[in-house]
Amino acid sequence: MMKSNFEKIRVKMNRELEKADAHIDAEYYCFHHPSATRKEYRGNCDCRKPKPGLLLRAAKDFDLNLRESFMVGDSLVDVEAGKAVGCATFLIGPIRCEVCKLMEEKSARPDVVLSSFLEVARAIEERVT
Ligand SMILES: [Zn+2]
Repeated sequence: MMKSNFEKIRVKMNRELEKADAHIDAEYYCFHHPSATRKEYRGNCDCRKPKPGLLLRAAKDFDLNLRESFMVGDSLVDVEAGKAVGCATFLIGPIRCEVCKLMEEKSARPDVVLSSFLEVARAIEERVT
């Protein structure tokens, strides 16, 4: 994803969150890819999921206990990154047979699968209250 597209998504996301009186404390992202066409993004880094580099950075910045944290994502690399650092993992999206097979192959079975971010937010609220 180009940075300009990312910036548009970021602005829209923050605008929508503001409407709901919510905010994001920090954003962590990785533009790297081993075969990126732009040289400045090319390479192997510790922040590209399934590696947990971004989670570790956030934990350091905010003094978080990752074993008491939640990793929410829409892909198995999100689950893998979360599991690597001991987070409870939530996968958003429908579960299809091929996804189940991949979960087994990658040992990336999420703790919870739900169909929307709202459902995840409610489930987390139940766990922490
Ligand atoms: Zn990276």
